[in-house]
Amino acid sequence: MIDYSSTNGFNTPYNTAPFSKIKNEDYLPTFKKAIADAKAEINAIANNEASPTFKNTIEALEFSGEKLDRISSIFFNLNSAETNDTIQKIAQEVSPMLSEFSNDITLNEDLFKRIKTVYNSKDTLNLTVEQHTLLEKKYKSFSRNGANLPKEKKQQLREIDKKLSQLKLKFGENILAETNAFEMLITNEADISGLPDGAKEAAKQLAESKEKEGWLFTLDYPSYIPFVTYADNRELRKQLSIAAGSKGFKGDKLDNQQHVLDIAKLRHERANLLGYKTHAHFVLEERMAETPKNVEKFLNELLEKAKPAADREFKNLENFAKDLDNIDKLEKWDGAYYSEKLKQKLFSLDDEKLKPYFKLQNVINGAFTVANKLFNLHFEEINTIDKYHDDVLTYKVTNSKGDFISILYADFFPRPGKRNGAWMTVYKPQYIKNEENSRPHISIVCNFTKPTKTKPSLLTFNEVTTLFHEFGHALHGMLANTTYPSLSGTSVYWDFVELPSQVMENWCYEKEALELFATHYETGEVIPMDLIEKIKASATFLEGMQTVRQLSFGLLDMSWHGQDPTDILDVKTHENKAFEGTKLYPDVAENCMSTAFSHIFQGGYSSGYYSYKWAEVLDADAFEYFKENGIFNTSVAQKFYDHVLSKGGTENPMTLYKRFRGQEPKPEALLKRAGLMETK
Ligand SMILES: [Zn+2]
Repeated sequence: MIDYSSTNGFNTPYNTAPFSKIKNEDYLPTFKKAIADAKAEINAIANNEASPTFKNTIEALEFSGEKLDRISSIFFNLNSAETNDTIQKIAQEVSPMLSEFSNDITLNEDLFKRIKTVYNSKDTLNLTVEQHTLLEKKYKSFSRNGANLPKEKKQQLREIDKKLSQLKLKFGENILAETNAFEMLITNEADISGLPDGAKEAAKQLAESKEKEGWLFTLDYPSYIPFVTYADNRELRKQLSIAAGSKGFKGDKLDNQQHVLDIAKLRHERANLLGYKTHAHFVLEERMAETPKNVEKFLNELLEKAKPAADREFKNLENFAKDLDNIDKLEKWDGAYYSEKLKQKLFSLDDEKLKPYFKLQNVINGAFTVANKLFNLHFEEINTIDKYHDDVLTYKVTNSKGDFISILYADFFPRPGKRNGAWMTVYKPQYIKNEENSRPHISIVCNFTKPTKTKPSLLTFNEVTTLFHEFGHALHGMLANTTYPSLSGTSVYWDFVELPSQVMENWCYEKEALELFATHYETGEVIPMDLIEKIKASATFLEGMQTVRQLSFGLLDMSWHGQDPTDILDVKTHENKAFEGTKLYPDVAENCMSTAFSHIFQGGYSSGYYSYKWAEVLDADAFEYFKENGIFNTSVAQKFYDHVLSKGGTENPMTLYKRFRGQEPKPEALLKRAGLMETK
């Protein structure tokens, strides 16, 4: 059992996670005990004889289950960053226990009755803005799950939910089976010409692992992407591209067309049952964008600006392909290939040229220096707290007065047991309880190039922006200053959560910032200006086409979820109609996007795909404000701290943003940054 008490927590320095003391066999009993304790706390709230108040119901609920939260965050963070078979097995055992626990809360009618009583009297309670938000959030977490429905309709809702989760599972299984079923074996070396050595090597190893001769390619991204980007053989690119685009659309037993129609209709039914016009109305109620109308307006306005640029770029690319290889009509399987060739011709910018300027330690120091100049933060490496792996760096973060702000963990290198990608996570959120401001423990986890015997870790430019991105999320967590943990830091509407992360990336393109840290690891020379210019120019290469592609996915998502789907009979016909205004390449009859659009039909992005572009508009607009006043302007930084970074989800994000910026976000800054404003 892992020791934790509500008075002194883990009894460690800063109450940090006691990694070295936790044994795998401790987890299960600790989880069981923590769940039992949390249940008892919930029951005490639900069965309280005193009449319901904000304090004895909403606030009590908010601060219940503290031990369970700490254990869960440690366990699931490790399951991502440092896992093994045992931890994965425990996760499989614990996950259903936790979802049962949270279902029990949502279905607890006595508890909801109390919450509803407080909710109905909210205007007479003299609540602070934050308390008001908390009350709204707690109430909605019940009502949006049917707590207000009569018994019979509740039952109907459960049945829809059950069907939906089965359909989503089936949808995903079909895509996975399609991906795994496809192989392209190449035995003639001439057919892989153009591919980088690394990709050839990987394809050869894959063939060997299946006891085959030659080079094997699959629909997995690390195999598929290099092939369609570099392979000179157009016919084979076509084969692979069509295979990738026809997942779930072959009319066989792995076909997803009916699943797409069923999921869209069930979601609509569910939304109606809960009193919403469409699924998108239901989802967007808890988003900064608020309504489908706003999202559609947003997407179409950007499209209007981006489409002419995209058409020009497409024509350009087609001409380039014509000159180079006598290609008459640019097809989908030519896009990545000729884009890459044109990019090389225009910029000849490769990672090897840039990497010497981005030694990992210098980039870390760079991020810290930027945070120091903007927010007066100091980062001191400490070795007095536990780590879960030797590679992890630990920092104590303080402000200019020396006040303790946060603990920061940084874990940069890949190893078995760490999942791919980069992310920020929380070991302990910030909150204020009994007048004490309990500071957060934040972690960033990446998979960067490792040092070798002769060279330190040198980052690609993409890795540099990734570090700044995750560091931006970390700032949002570290600088949190709210009362309630569920509204703290990055606990915001998810079309707002990428603002602090994406805005930080902007400093990586600025001379004034790069001069602070982008120095050659051997000579100390600052990165030359022409390289910076090239980085900037290549970052917006074919931006019109990219933008239109993103917008087309957002519009497709809204077409499925922003209207009554009852009359949609044919998936492909519906999809072509949704894509009408965004078309660049000729249609491929064998292909369908919706039948493999896992983001929206399997994952949690339904009615949310727009948020990628939404966040870009926000970050460009916010950074524009810095640029107007100087990228290290401390009064703009102070506003960003006061109204965004410290506020978490305590208020409507549009209100927070306007308080920071003085106005609503406008798309002009993004269009300018993306090079879509001028007429070429
Ligand atoms: Zn992010």
